[in-house]
Amino acid sequence: TTSTQTFEFQSEARQLLQLMIHSIYSNKDVFLRELVSNASDALDKLRLEAFRDKDLEADTDDLHVEIAIDQDARTLTVRDNGIGMSRNDVVSLIGTIAKSGTAEFLRKLKESKDAAGSQDLIGQFGVGFYSSFMVADRVTLVTRRAGSTEGVRWESDGEGTYTIEPAEDAPQGTSVTLHLKPADTDDHLFDYTSARKVREIVKRYSDFITWPVKMASSEDGDELETVNSMKALWARSQSEVEQSEYNEFYKHISHDWNDPLETFRMQAEGTFEYQALLFIPAQAPLDLFMRERKRGVQLYVKRVFIMDDCEALMPEYLRFIKGVVDAQDLSLNVSREILQQDRQIRMIRKRLVKKVLTTVKSMMAEEGGERYTTFWSAFGAAVKEGLLDDVDNRESILEISSFASTHDAEAPTTLKDYVARMKDGQTDIYYLTGESRTIIENSPHMEAFQAKGYEVLVLTDPIDEMWVEAVSGFDGKQFQSIAKGEVDLDEKDDEKAAEAKKDFADLLAWMTTALAEDVKEVRLSTRLTTSPACIVGDAHDITPTLEKMYRASGQ
Ligand code: ADP
Ligand code: MG
Repeated sequence: TTSTQTFEFQSEARQLLQLMIHSIYSNKDVFLRELVSNASDALDKLRLEAFRDKDLEADTDDLHVEIAIDQDARTLTVRDNGIGMSRNDVVSLIGTIAKSGTAEFLRKLKESKDAAGSQDLIGQFGVGFYSSFMVADRVTLVTRRAGSTEGVRWESDGEGTYTIEPAEDAPQGTSVTLHLKPADTDDHLFDYTSARKVREIVKRYSDFITWPVKMASSEDGDELETVNSMKALWARSQSEVEQSEYNEFYKHISHDWNDPLETFRMQAEGTFEYQALLFIPAQAPLDLFMRERKRGVQLYVKRVFIMDDCEALMPEYLRFIKGVVDAQDLSLNVSREILQQDRQIRMIRKRLVKKVLTTVKSMMAEEGGERYTTFWSAFGAAVKEGLLDDVDNRESILEISSFASTHDAEAPTTLKDYVARMKDGQTDIYYLTGESRTIIENSPHMEAFQAKGYEVLVLTDPIDEMWVEAVSGFDGKQFQSIAKGEVDLDEKDDEKAAEAKKDFADLLAWMTTALAEDVKEVRLSTRLTTSPACIVGDAHDITPTLEKMYRASGQ
């Protein structure tokens, strides 16, 4: 008909769809988790919007997800009566990938040669709705936004284009129908048209969804039964919940396809009651250092979803922590602005931060410490921002930090271990900042320290430049840049030094004048062993890297 319009997928979306069609992901069952997760989100959004907008003409009775199978047609439909989508929503949400870091992700994927590497990356990205195309060769989505009268029908085979047309009589919410690819197996029980198999997948991946997920109770009957238990995991007793259930819940809220590195729970009773279920991911998200990055903690009030990315609950430097905080005594109407001011929310945040830091500390104490190493290499650069932002917890952050050092090129060191190795008479913790380990190791400043066997921290993250200025010290030892001020390694030779200074006084004075435009002073040094000269900064000068950073940010 003339009302059918054909659109092209945005190029990034097209590439992701190709990945799905050619199915580089081995566990195809997860498509159902993604569709049920979207349906559940849509119901959350509707409940909240209906609560806030009393004029919204929406049907909020009997909110649920329904899964229907048609064996003859080989279709599987996931339907919800949630918020739905407008025509524009469909084009922008389904036709494009708005996620930050997509281009970067695709570039990395192209570069990663082996299949295992690609799997890791895909898992990290989480393709959501597009995972339908792992099992379907055509997908039809019919939707109507709550409060609107115009339904939309979207259809695609995932090969570059999709069509959109008006859908008359579309019920409120969204239905996604998968036209399943031919079965891999003759055994009906292992096919997605098997109700038993589908029910099992829902139990495995979506049991905790707080809305009923319904399916026909028998192959030909139309009576529906609820498949999931609908219990919020954080409301169940700890001993009763399996780690696999936490893992699936983590995937639902984080859109990560991998298991979390660490799971932990907290609760408080009394005047301000809350429960928290938090996760540390095993990998850094692609947008960890991007401007539009989000924080990962969701706020619920008495089991009702209120908001994603609740910035009032987690500081910026712990933005990678995912999870849920369910507070009992807040209004459902609470806004981000109100939360920022709320004294009790601040108290919860304080406790969450402490708990995260102590959790990392205990990971550090584990035999072998592999999980801590994974944690630190993924999130260390973000955590160090806390040395500037979170003065109250500075000490704890320093304790859980690791730094590359000249002691061992392979393994970073903690400050505690550094201090334990300090030479007799050494009072400061030596460091050098720079763009890379190679640059730092080849710096002339390094020579004398290396020759005399002093350990130097090798600081290459941009944030390192800043915190070393702000943090006064660790365990009573100051941080001392070996590129700044006078670092005296040979106090014993004072007499010889004074003599040399006298001998070279004229030459030094002449050089200082000759080089006046470029340096403040020329002096003799014991820093060097093989290089004839090096440039050092004043104790309070900004370093070259920091200078570059300021320039780059337009300051
Ligand atoms: P994500 O869930 O990570 O945002 P998806 O690819 O799963 O990514 O979905 C993309 C977007 O499409 C969702 O954010 C949502 O806005 C919209 N969407 C998907 N499914 C539904 C649905 N059943 N009801 C309403 N909106 C949906
Ligand atoms: Mg999704």
